[in-house]
Amino acid sequence: MQQRLYYLSDETECDSAIVSSGEQDGRFFAILAATLFHPRGGGQLADGGWIDDCKVLSVESLGEAILHVTERLLPPGPVRLRVDADKRALHSRLHSAGHLIGTVGIDLGLRPDKAQHWPEASRVVFRMEETAPPEAGEWEGKANHIVAQNLPRQCGIQDGARMVGFGSLPAFPCGGTHVRSLADIGRIRILSVKTKKDTVTVNYDIL
Ligand SMILES: [Zn+2]
Repeated sequence: MQQRLYYLSDETECDSAIVSSGEQDGRFFAILAATLFHPRGGGQLADGGWIDDCKVLSVESLGEAILHVTERLLPPGPVRLRVDADKRALHSRLHSAGHLIGTVGIDLGLRPDKAQHWPEASRVVFRMEETAPPEAGEWEGKANHIVAQNLPRQCGIQDGARMVGFGSLPAFPCGGTHVRSLADIGRIRILSVKTKKDTVTVNYDIL
């Protein structure tokens, strides 16, 4: 199984090796011994970047394997990985912001159901039992109050699952990438809070 280096490392460059590569449905792919590239999934978009000087077009999970879809066919052997650091930083900030919105929702008695942390399309969806959700402004105030505490990221493997939390806040099972400490998020903006039957959708962005 490939090593998912991004689970425990914030590095965006390292040496690795292509263990197999090929062509499928007109697309070239490479499988690496160890990868820094986060694949699309878990509510987070794929990393961009390069394997040597070849552009990585997408990164996808296929069972336990991670497929790096490349611009051309790369032969097996040693390679240098470079993740697009700006894109990664944006994805990490959005993802960590989503977790904090989840924390605020739990404090309000809501149950996080699903989330996506995509640029310009980020949202967290909750199940609502009896509690009516607060307005966007109140939600935003609570989330940014936690950001201001600048708690450090805590990452670990628990019962085989990777858990991500900040300070002593509740940790969530998560395979995504996150900021090192909360101030790196910047400011969270709640764009809207929409209620429909028993679901609450919180749309957000970061500044
Ligand atoms: Zn997550």
